[in-house]
Amino acid sequence: MRIGIGYDVHALDDGLPLWLGGVKVVHSKGCVAHSDGDVLIHAICDALLGAACLRDIGVHFADTDPQWKGIDSKILLQKTVALLSQNGYSIGNVDSVIMLQQPKIKDYIPQMQTILAQTMGIAVAQMSVKATTTERLGFVGREEGIAAQAVCTIVKEN
Ligand SMILES: [Zn+2]
Repeated sequence: MRIGIGYDVHALDDGLPLWLGGVKVVHSKGCVAHSDGDVLIHAICDALLGAACLRDIGVHFADTDPQWKGIDSKILLQKTVALLSQNGYSIGNVDSVIMLQQPKIKDYIPQMQTILAQTMGIAVAQMSVKATTTERLGFVGREEGIAAQAVCTIVKEN
């Protein structure tokens, strides 16, 4: 068994769509990004890649590459899981936390878990999503950006 960690941050700007965990969240701001800016999915991809010692999301899906412009991050997650599978790994579990001040996303979390689990081909019980504010401290607290962290375990299949 191997463990991975992932961390991602995106700036927020007015009038952009807000994608989190594969779900479109109703909000007046969204993430500035080359892709759809799904900060949670990006953190999960990095955790999975890190667990397999396969570098990071920027290496596999460069933000200078036009083929990834505006891409649905669920596709990046599918490609990441396929890469792990090619290397003989399956997912044990994923735990994650989204750090944002607004909006409240508690009610979106079950849907995020379902969509992420489906995208990765795992059970919902293997995909944990949590959310926290930073008590108005720092760039997250000032609503300038959103951060996400993920950890995962992967298992080598023989
Ligand atoms: Zn990102």
